[in-house]
Amino acid sequence: MSKPVVIATWPFGAGASAAGYQRLLDGGSALDAVESAGNFAEDDPEVYSVGYGGLPNALGIVELDAAIMDGRSHLAGAVCALVDIGRPISVARVVMEKSPHVMLAAEGARSFAINHGFLVKSQLTETAARRWEEWKASEKAAATVAHFPSTPLVPDNHDTIGICAIDSQGDLAAGCTTSGMAWKLPGRVGDSPIIGAGLYVDNTYGAAAATGHGDEMMKASLSYRTVMNMASGMNPTEACVEALRYLLSRRSTLVNPYGAAIVALRKDGATGAAATKSGFELPSKTWNWATADSSSPHGIVRQGPYVDIAGVYPTLD
Ligand code: ASP
Repeated sequence: MSKPVVIATWPFGAGASAAGYQRLLDGGSALDAVESAGNFAEDDPEVYSVGYGGLPNALGIVELDAAIMDGRSHLAGAVCALVDIGRPISVARVVMEKSPHVMLAAEGARSFAINHGFLVKSQLTETAARRWEEWKASEKAAATVAHFPSTPLVPDNHDTIGICAIDSQGDLAAGCTTSGMAWKLPGRVGDSPIIGAGLYVDNTYGAAAATGHGDEMMKASLSYRTVMNMASGMNPTEACVEALRYLLSRRSTLVNPYGAAIVALRKDGATGAAATKSGFELPSKTWNWATADSSSPHGIVRQGPYVDIAGVYPTLD
């Protein structure tokens, strides 16, 4: 028997982990817990970076990405650029369980979801639409729309929920769900729904899930590397730190200032996390993550550590 634990990225991950933990207490598997935690964030219109209420792309369309991976079966499912369908992590699970494929994109993902009973519903809230109008009116946006040179990023316009869980059977699962970078180019897909990048689980060793600047993070297979680091004997925090330093060693200039962060859960229930110092040390944006377990069933928010190429900083406050 293992001690059930759910971990997630960001402060809003506290409520989500608590929802996942409750699912475990109700007899659900780690996979169920990851799905419930993802749904909790997806349904919350106040979370502007995930599911309903997520910020749209450059054309004002909310395109959602999500993935889920089951340690017990080593199966995975994912959707990307999904429009007008809620709870994309649940669609990802159905892709895993009911299709011969791992990932479905855009219109194909939407048709698949509709065929499996998901309702068509706009995921764009009034608040998100207003923020998009403001962005569109800005000069920067005008330049982007005219030339499409690159996505204008600001540090607070993206925050994927990455989730890992272990159930009482000792099985692990991981998931990610996100609206991706706000104002992204239409069709842009980040790291979050990519197995090995946004999430990874190996039932023998552990699970990891990521958030941050996906266009950079996916070049380092961050979640896979973190799990393999645990396989080679590192504790979860060391595993995250090493993966991020590897990323920084290859993409040090471009990963800044938007940041990358990862959470990890080892097979024995030990947890850890780390974030790049740059991008997450701002007073307006510190690196927080959350756990829910028997000692904190309602979820608690934790901070740091931070990493740069020179060192590891437990907290910066
Ligand atoms: N990783 C996500 C993406 O690049 C965004 C985030 O987690 O902040 O789409």
